[in-house]
Amino acid sequence: MTTISQFDYDLLVIGAGSGGVRASRVAASLGARVAVVESGRLGGTCVNVGCIPKKLLSHAAHFSQAFGEAAGFGWQLPQARFDWATLIAHKDREIHRLNGVYDQLLTNAGVQLIAGRARITGAHSVAVGDRTLSARHILVATGGRPQKPAIAGAEWAISSDEAFSLPALPRRVVVVGGGYIAVEFASIFHGLGAETTLLHRSARLLRHFDADLGMVLAEQMGRQGMQLQLERQIESIAKRDDGLHLQLDNGQALTADCVLFATGRVPNTEGLGLEAAGVRLDGQGAVVVDEGFTTSVPSIHAVGDVVGRMALTPVALAEGTVLAHRLFGNGDKAAPDYALVPTAVFSHPNVGTVGLSEARARECHGDVQVFKSSFRPLSNRMAEEPRPVFLKLVVAGADRRVVGVHMVGEEAGELIQGFAVALQCGATKAQFDATLGIHPTVAEEFVTMR
Ligand code: FAD
Ligand code: NDP
Repeated sequence: MTTISQFDYDLLVIGAGSGGVRASRVAASLGARVAVVESGRLGGTCVNVGCIPKKLLSHAAHFSQAFGEAAGFGWQLPQARFDWATLIAHKDREIHRLNGVYDQLLTNAGVQLIAGRARITGAHSVAVGDRTLSARHILVATGGRPQKPAIAGAEWAISSDEAFSLPALPRRVVVVGGGYIAVEFASIFHGLGAETTLLHRSARLLRHFDADLGMVLAEQMGRQGMQLQLERQIESIAKRDDGLHLQLDNGQALTADCVLFATGRVPNTEGLGLEAAGVRLDGQGAVVVDEGFTTSVPSIHAVGDVVGRMALTPVALAEGTVLAHRLFGNGDKAAPDYALVPTAVFSHPNVGTVGLSEARARECHGDVQVFKSSFRPLSNRMAEEPRPVFLKLVVAGADRRVVGVHMVGEEAGELIQGFAVALQCGATKAQFDATLGIHPTVAEEFVTMR
């Protein structure tokens, strides 16, 4: 639907991350003249310092446990040695390849790439360096960035951004936080051989998930040899000759070679010119949008982490798709159902979850039934250390609909994906019960719990 226009572009996207790239490509495929401005590397957080490199490091870390369990199955292995430099070089090679894939995808779609930092200067104008570009629609897809607590010596600590390119594997690591990034990186460092402490201000890990998940995960991480310090905060960090000295709020002191703050992320809205252009932000600095991802200025839209609804790549992709179809297609794509977004935490063990926690189900539906199971999978039966899996179903209402599926265990992310389809279809417990299992698997337990 190319039109003769007073604007340089139909859509100008700020940020070539998950949401921005998806919206650009879909809009271009619908005939819009699209440009995307990116100040860093193509692919954004997910490709460069998020999902992809994290999953590669997480996979690297899982081998230590696999090597340990192999002996029970008759394998006699030589002493395994891990080389951080090799892992990081191979990870960088893969990320570089993906940056090229994104470049090709955008170029092939006819999207113009503009390198530089963008700033909004009006409802239809954006400055990049000394250029001013005009567009009928502007999309803010600038993502988020890590935030550190304001304590003395915080500058000695790193965030997940730097963790991907440390010059060497630290010998002693303290990871601060109890969310996704904290438990994933604690598992990575521990699995690769670092002495790892996880220090969290609350009593429970993954506080926003079903309560059993954080408790089971904490127990299993502790059993693997990670030091868990719950309900603790760091008061200060000082750099000395023998490492970083941490003063804790209970008077205890810790020494480490690396402190990683995984204490949440904030939306990238500073210095973008949003408020001057009339775009409303919330108390956390996230862009406020309506159901169609449009801001308080009708020509300016926002998707992904900068909106802060759910900071996950598939959510940013879905939001970008919906917006592009609404602006340039027939608007037939529905916004994602945020209550049914499946998610996995790639800690060791993994956590996978979709739907309502038990507590939330009790708030929403009075009548709730819970089914739980914990057992050692066959893959762990001949190992010395038990590595049980934990499965949980939450069932609610008169029609006994399955409203939550939760798991802690190997490949939980892979397994929960299929159950997310079942929940999307409104599956009932009776339909789970009528489904035959695949034997012998972990997943069959979900259809045999009575
Ligand atoms: P981003 O991908 O952050 O893209 C924003 C882009 O905008 C960036 O490239 C940035 O350089 C650019 N930009 C910012 N300001 C400007 C400006 N002024 N001008 C020009 N360009 C600008 N999600 C999952 O679903 N699964 C996972 O396993 C997972 N793991 C993660 C692990 C880590 C360590 C982190 C940090 C995140 C992880 N996430 C994961 C979350 C996921 O990465 C984000 O939800 C997703 O990348 C958000 O996409 P986005 O398009 O909103 O923003
Ligand atoms: P989360 O919001 O998941 O967790 C932040 C953690 O930091 C919480 O445990 C919080 O504690 C703690 N915290 C916050 N402020 C402080 C403070 N001042 N001092 C001490 N602790 C503090 O954020 P993450 O940074 O882990 O990840 C950001 C987002 O990125 C995630 O929410 C997720 O959406 C996405 N992500 C997704 C992944 C995946 O899909 N596998 C992987 C990584 C990230 P408390 O619990 O007490 O509030």
